[in-house]
This record gives sequence, C-alpha cells and structure tokens, in this order.
Amino acid sequence: MNAPRTADPVTRPRPPFVQGAPKELFIDGVWRPAASGRTLETLDPMTEQVITSIAAADADDVDLAVRAARRAFRSDEWSALSPYRRGSLLLEIADVIEAHADELATLDTLEMGGPLALTRWMVDHSVEVFRHYAGWPTKIYGQTAPSSPGQLNYVLKQPLGVVAAITPWNGPFLQMTWKVAPALATGNTVVVKPAQQTSLSTLRFAELLAETGLPRGVVNVVTGTGGITGEALIQHLDVNKVTFTGSTAVGKHLLEASAGNLKRVTLELGGKSPTIVFADADLPAAARAAAADFLAGSGQSCVAGTRIFVEESVRKEFSALLADEMATYVPGDPFHPDTVMGPMASRDHYNKVLSYFTIAREAGAVITTGGTNDGDDGLFVAPTLIENVTNDMRVAQEEIFGPVAVLLPFSDVDEVVRMSNDSVYGLAAYVWTRDLSRAHTVAARLESGSVFINTTGQMSAGILPFGGVKQSGIGRDHGTDVIDAFTETKTVVVNL
Ligand code: NAP
Ligand code: MG
Repeated sequence: MNAPRTADPVTRPRPPFVQGAPKELFIDGVWRPAASGRTLETLDPMTEQVITSIAAADADDVDLAVRAARRAFRSDEWSALSPYRRGSLLLEIADVIEAHADELATLDTLEMGGPLALTRWMVDHSVEVFRHYAGWPTKIYGQTAPSSPGQLNYVLKQPLGVVAAITPWNGPFLQMTWKVAPALATGNTVVVKPAQQTSLSTLRFAELLAETGLPRGVVNVVTGTGGITGEALIQHLDVNKVTFTGSTAVGKHLLEASAGNLKRVTLELGGKSPTIVFADADLPAAARAAAADFLAGSGQSCVAGTRIFVEESVRKEFSALLADEMATYVPGDPFHPDTVMGPMASRDHYNKVLSYFTIAREAGAVITTGGTNDGDDGLFVAPTLIENVTNDMRVAQEEIFGPVAVLLPFSDVDEVVRMSNDSVYGLAAYVWTRDLSRAHTVAARLESGSVFINTTGQMSAGILPFGGVKQSGIGRDHGTDVIDAFTETKTVVVNL
C-alpha cells in the first residue's frame, strides 16, 4: 500500500519541546540565547513549514561553551570520578534516551524526513552505543614499560581535553551519540555542533541530561550555521580535538583549520560505495539488499551502495529483480507507518539530487527507472537507476546523496575490483557471491573502510570499527582503536 503523499495536519506530531520560545544554547548546564540574539528557523521537509527556531551562535558563544567545557574538564567533579562512576553515568544516559526514544525519533523525523521506523532504529541503536561505551572506563589500561634497575617506566592513557563534535543532518541523533559516548567514556568534555537543519534531538538530549548525574559543563551544545558556529569551533585554540561527520569538502577545510593548534581530528566523510554482484550470487537476496543499500533513508546515507556492478551474464535477470525491489520503495509521509522512504531533507538538497538527472542524460547515460521528481507535491524523488554508464561519468563518481544508483556490467574479477577502486572514496563495499574464497579475496583487494559480504550494511553499536579510506575520511569510530583516538599517551619515568 502506498503511504500518503501529503502530511495530515491533525495527526502531525507537535512535541511539547518544539512549542513555545526559540530553543537556546546549552552552555555549562544553563540555557541561554545567542549573545547576538540571532535565531534561525528549522523546517519540516515534508511540509516545508517552520517547526521552531534555534539560537544562532557566533564566536563569542562558542568561546563561552569551550571555556565551560575546559572548566568542567579540569574540575574534580568530572576528572576525579572513578572509572566505575563514569561508566554508571553513561548507563544513566542510555536509560534516559531509552525512556524518551519515541520523542527523540519524532524530532529527527520532523527535521530530516526519515521514516519514523528508521529514526526510531537510530535512537535504539544509540542506547546500545551508550551501554557499549559504559563498559570502557574500567578497561582503559596503560602499560608498564621495560625499565632499567632503579627506574620505573610506565605509560598512561589520558583524556585529550575539550572535544568538538560536529554532526551532519542525515542521522542527527545517532551521529551525535557516536561522538559523545566515546568522548565521555575516555574522560573528555564536549561541545556539540549539530547540523543547522537538525539540531532538535541534540538539544532535547542536552535537556534530558538534567535527569542524570552528569556534572554541568561536561556536555555543551551550540547551534547555528557551519560557516559561523562550526567555523568558530574548528578555529578555537582551546579545542583539543574535532570529531566530524559530514562532507569531504568541509572535512578538508577542517583539516587545514586544525593546524592552528594541531587539533586531533577524526573525519567521517562521503562515499560512493560499490555493490558487486557475481553471477553465482543469491540474486533475489542481492537485489533486495542492493535496493535497501541505496534507498534506505532516501539514499541520504554515507554508506549507500550507489555503484552497482553486475556480472554481465546475469545482468538482465538481476536488473529485473532490482526493478521489482525498487518499486516497493514509494516515497511518502515519514510519519505514516507504511512509509519506507520519506522526502529529501531540504529543498536545496532535493534540487541538487534532481540536477544529476540532467548531468546523466547529457553524458549519454540512460535513466531506466525513476528519474523524475515523482510529482510536484513535495520533496520526493523516485528510486532511480541509471544505466549505459561509464565509470568516469560524474554520476558514477560523485556522491549524489539521493535514491539514485548507477548499474555497470563487468566480466571478470580484476575488472570489477579495478572499477570499484577507481573512486576518490572508500567507505563501504558490498560483495555478493556464493564462492567464499572469492569473497574474501575480493574483500582484501577493495579499497574500503568496510566490506559487507552477502549482507546489507550492518551497524554494530560500537563493536566494529567504522570509517573510510582515501577521501572518505581519517580515523575510525568504534572498535578498540577509538580509545586511542580520544586519549593521549603519557610516558612517566621514575627514578626509584
Ligand atoms: P556538511 O555540509 O559537511 O556538514 C556537516 C556538518 O559540518 C554540519 O554540522 C555543518 O553545519 C558543519 N559545517 C559546515 N561548514 C563548516 C565549517 N566551515 N566549519 C565547521 N563546520 C562546518 O555535510 P552535510 O551536507 O551536512 O552532510 C552530508 C555529508 O555527510 C555527505 O557527504 C555524507 O556522505 C557525509 N556523511 C558521512 C558519514 C560517515 O560516517 N562517513 C555519515 C553521514 C554523512 P551546517 O549544516 O549547520 O551548516
Ligand atoms: Mg552542508
């Protein structure tokens, strides 16, 4: 059944949190407007109506937030906590998120248009992320090092200090927790800058922290634009690390800006991930997963499998299966229970996605499914498949960030590995084959941060490292490496 295309004003949620005065900045445990008094409106992409207003922080507000985070970092209230107590605070945070999961998911769906089932999954996953990291404070070991007689040498793992967390609009709550949970587990303090379009769930999270024992100033939230608020954070000389998820262009700029005081950086950036379907694969399963991997979240996903490579001998059969799967993704109201795909997150982004249909046609490619704006009644883009493509075309190389994939045939393993690696990106890759020996060999050869074999992309709440190679990023979230990414190593030499 197709979900409705227009929002029902009667059933449209209006959580109390979005009613009333503009949302303020959360600095040192206190809500305050931007010093300039400026605000920005936040829009519902389904209706393009204003939801509420948020504060537009500038460099003065950011400085206040960084000072608060520094003060909290140096305070005994935070730095002198036992590892057990720090872990139990993370468990308290997980509980409070769990108790408000519906509301937090509703705020994300209101602002970015993702189906409620998807945003609810992301909030549930975030609860697990906090529970995962709650186990870390009691397990961050240093080392005793080889020492000459009369000496004791050892190595400590200590927090970095103030961490700036800058998040994108496509998975607002989840991305925030991926950064805040490990930062707190390792004893840092945080200033979060959510995407301007999607600040509400992060602000509500800050409000909910009052229900936990987290000391004031440990988590601060500054809202506003990337160009002003984000820029002030990445330039700030008292920020020790920036952990960023967003576009490759902003990631490169951030790396330059971090030179001012040699900030540590973790960058999770864009992708153009290959899905490789060999002739011996379970084709119906591969088609189902391939559709999900580029259509979930309307393709506004960094790990979207948007370059589909199919072995020539099964191209026709696979294309027909894929078309059937794509037909089940009908965009509609993200609050409707039948909706699997919502609108694009904003009109600007919608226009950007549509512009690639012209780019494809002008290059001689053929849009075999979709390729329309699916009517003029909202920011909907129909699931779109582009064929007759060469790997050097813009549609095969650039991240479109919409429900759009290219399909390219291949005839042997070397060719498909070469084409897959012929990309500036390297975030995820999906391989479908019943030949496990070939699956492992190809996985080893793919230039990609993650490889998924005979499965869709699985996120594992903190357990597995996640990140990209090449221009998809620097560093990893999660896994065991994440502890190094949020700590400094200190060598201590003692003359006994
Ligand atoms: P974006 O424009 O790079 O924005 C990301 C964040 O950076 C936002 O909070 C943005 O603020 C802020 N920002 C923009 N300019 C800044 C500046 N000069 N200094 C500091 N901060 C600045 O990316 P987006 O369009 O929101 O998100 C889509 C991109 O994120 C895609 O390329 C996608 O692949 C990538 N992504 C990657 C992952 C991953 O894990 N690898 C996950 C999700 C998304 P405002 O938006 O408020 O201006
Ligand atoms: Mg942006």
